Order: sequence, then C-alpha cells, then structure tokens
Amino acid sequence: MKILVINCGSSSLKYQLLDMEGEKLLAKGLCERIGIDGHLTHKPQNGRPVFNEDVPMPTHTEAIAAVLEKLTSPEYGVVESMSEIGAVGHRVVHGGEKFACSVRIDDAVMDALAECIPLAPLHNPANITGINACKAVMGDVPQVAVFDTAFHQTMPGKAFMYPIPYSYYTDLKVRRYGFHGTSHRYVSKRAAEMMGKPIEELKLISCHMGNGSSICAIDGGKSVDTSMGFTPIAGLPMGTRCGDIDVSILEYLSANTGKNIKELTTILNKMSGVLGVSGVSSDFRDLDVAANQGNDRARLALDMFHYAVAKTVGSYVAAMNGVDGIIFTAGIGENSATTRAEICKYLTYLGIEICPECNKKRGEDIFISTEDSKVKVMVIPTNEELVIARDTRDIVEGL
Ligand code: ADP
Repeated sequence: MKILVINCGSSSLKYQLLDMEGEKLLAKGLCERIGIDGHLTHKPQNGRPVFNEDVPMPTHTEAIAAVLEKLTSPEYGVVESMSEIGAVGHRVVHGGEKFACSVRIDDAVMDALAECIPLAPLHNPANITGINACKAVMGDVPQVAVFDTAFHQTMPGKAFMYPIPYSYYTDLKVRRYGFHGTSHRYVSKRAAEMMGKPIEELKLISCHMGNGSSICAIDGGKSVDTSMGFTPIAGLPMGTRCGDIDVSILEYLSANTGKNIKELTTILNKMSGVLGVSGVSSDFRDLDVAANQGNDRARLALDMFHYAVAKTVGSYVAAMNGVDGIIFTAGIGENSATTRAEICKYLTYLGIEICPECNKKRGEDIFISTEDSKVKVMVIPTNEELVIARDTRDIVEGL
C-alpha cells in the first residue's frame, strides 16, 4: 500500500509518499506561502528532477491538488495515478484526552478535532483544513489522524495534573498533555530493538531536541512523564520558547512594560529561549560559532540548555527509579556531538561513559556510550512520517 503522509501548518504543508512494501520513500516535498501566493518544492526519489517553483495556492485545497498533480505527472511523478494512493495519514497536533492512539477519520473524529481547537488554536485548525482539503481532492480515500499528544495519554495523574484548583482540569481541561509523542514512541521502540530487549522491560529517557525540545520518561514502553505541558512552550528552554518560568513573571512584566498577556505570551514563544538569552540566533549551529568566537551570552544560552536537559533527565531517573537507556534525537540531538557530550558530562553519576569516536558519527542509529557504560546512550534519527504511515496502514488494513 502507498501512503501519503501530510503535516499541515497554517500556511505550509509538508508531505511524503511512502510505499509500505519495504517502507520506501517515493517522494517528499513542501508547499509554502499557502493563502499568500504559493510555492512548491517536490522531490521525487526515483531520479526524476526536483520541481521548485511558484504555484498559485489560495487555499490548502489547491496545495493538495498541486502535490497530487506532481506525484502523478509524467515528468516529476512517482505513481501512475492517484488511485495508487491507498490512504492518507495526517499529523494532528492535539487530540486532547479523547485520543490515546491513532484513528481513522470520520465525522465524529472531525467533531472531536474541532473540540480540541481551544487547546491548540494555532495547530488544530490547520490540521483540520488539511484533512478537508484531502477530502475535497481525493474523495473517499481513507484518512487517519496520528496525534502528537496520544503517546502521553498513559501518564499517571501525579504527572499530568497541575497543582491548581481541580475544576480547571475538569471544566477547562487544563493539564499536561505533552507533545512530540510520535517521535518519542518511534525512538523508544528502536532503542529497545538496538538494546535487544523487550521494551516492556526497559526504562528509557528520550531527548527530542530540535527547534522545539521535549524529554520523555518511558517505562515499559509507556510515557510516564514528559517536559512539555498544557502547550509546547513548557519544559526546556528552546530555540525561541522560554520553557518553564515562574508564572508571576507575566504579571510583573505586564505591569512594567505595558504589554498585555497575549503580547507577552508571543514574546515568550517567539523571542525567548536561546534566541532571547543570546541575542544571536535560535539555531544551535549559530550559537556554537558565536560561543567559540567568545560571545558570552551565546555560551550562557548553550550552558542553560545543557543544564536544563541534564536536570530533566535526572528527574526522570528519579521518577522511574532508574534508567537503562538514554536517546538523543531531532535536529540538535542527531547532529550536535558537542551538545550530547556536554549533557552527558552531568550524567557520569549514572555510570555513563561516552565513546568520543562514536559520538562523532551522524545519520545512523548508533550507541555513543562505551561497552562498559552502565546506562546505554543512543543517537536515533527520528522518523515521525514513518510512524504515521505505519499507523495509517495498520488502521486501514485492519478495517
Ligand atoms: P523542528 O523542531 O522544526 O522539527 P529540527 O528537529 O529539524 O526542528 O531541528 C532544527 C534545529 O536543529 C536547528 O534549529 C538547529 O538548532 C539544530 N541543528 C541542526 N543541525 C545542527 C548541527 N549540526 N549542530 C547543532 N545544531 C543543529
């Protein structure tokens, strides 16, 4: 079965077409500036040329139509016709408490997704738009929703509740949801395979470190705690997000800057984190360069990030009463040997020993800990699209 995986943002749409026989990537691409003018980058994996041009995209429907046109075109295509695409899998950011696993999309699911909009006002509307656009262009092809939050629905109350009046949970659904669940699920499963043990017997900590970063404690294959919270701003300092801060800072800043809560929340989401501290960049590559040139604030931002990751890992070791393996993934986790080394310097008390040579490698599933290390440390490139495609196939074939 061939599966189209869609990750829809408010003005963008990322896609991959996978052949589940051999789990082979056939094509991938990106629609940008939807609703503004429109640009399509389409990369077939069969040797045909890359398409990289402006295409008018007043709405997501034209974007999906353009993607399908390219996927089936004689010049850039990878399939003969749209009928070869057996199903569509959508990344959906928020499934609230309703969805603890992936589901086939029907009218009831669409209603439930709409109910989750207040929990993810920027993301869920875009995901819903993407689903409707696929329906408009592809008709009755089965569609499946795979949620960022679903993996974390196994967290116990002591981990997901906030210590605020209980009615805010029951009436307004304020609780920790956690995100990056698809990634944490994928890398923890791979880690168990690499370690040659059933995941049910392992305590793992997965560090997803990209533009957004989150850490997850996975006990016996189940998420038991995670650093993002009610929204993805919580937990670690990130590229531009502040992570956990004292909530009273909002009132204090409002009184002293004249900015309202909405404006300040935008600053905490978009101008904070390592960008805010360093004043240099949200990109860790830029920070590395600046820090090496003697920029103290860039060095401080990096130190704060390493420290926060190490502290969170330590708290999850306590939460699970032990750890067998630690995983690094996503843009920073997969590519930055220095970040991994700096974080692991804090973790020698766990009996962790890093092999500097292994830590230099890139782009493959590897152990970066030594043979003798008491806790295994791994780098595992994440593959959220593959998880979405696998779930979609399993759900559609199980019908
Ligand atoms: P997203 O959260 O948007 O999916 P990614 O997982 O792709 O992000 O991570 C992007 C981030 O990864 C970049 O902003 C950059 O900070 C970081 N990154 C990528 N390559 C490197 C590298 N070689 N060294 C350090 N950081 C890197």
